[in-house]
Amino acid sequence: MKIPFKFKDIHSCEAVVLCCIDFRFWRETFEFVQKELSLNSFDFPSLPGSAKAINESDGNDLAMSCIDVPVNLHHAKKIVIVNHQDCGAYGGSRQFKEDGDAEQRFHEKELKKAKEKILAKYPDREVVLVYARLVDGNENIEFIVL
Ligand SMILES: [Zn+2]
Repeated sequence: MKIPFKFKDIHSCEAVVLCCIDFRFWRETFEFVQKELSLNSFDFPSLPGSAKAINESDGNDLAMSCIDVPVNLHHAKKIVIVNHQDCGAYGGSRQFKEDGDAEQRFHEKELKKAKEKILAKYPDREVVLVYARLVDGNENIEFIVL
């Protein structure tokens, strides 16, 4: 099987999008980033818990290299971090007794913490925070840009 290589001779990308490994969310996250954030070229690393991995990073490990490599090697200007509802890395929605608003507030704090950590290292980059919330009786995923 051969597939056209769209980025021949291109070594820079617009952004890095860090999301959770969760199979239920990454395809939709990819779609959101392309359609709503209008990004066409981006590195797309995933780690359990997304912001959690950054917050627990010692600044010099695999988690941080998911940001370091796109920024330093691919000159990514924008750093997008996506957390999601019912994330197993955080113990899932049951940790919040199914209170969706409390869960969202928790993830917002996590995302902001990760943003501060990344900005401390890369003050000249734009960091975009996104929370993927289940809505309409879990029929849809709403991507909320914080
Ligand atoms: Zn997750």
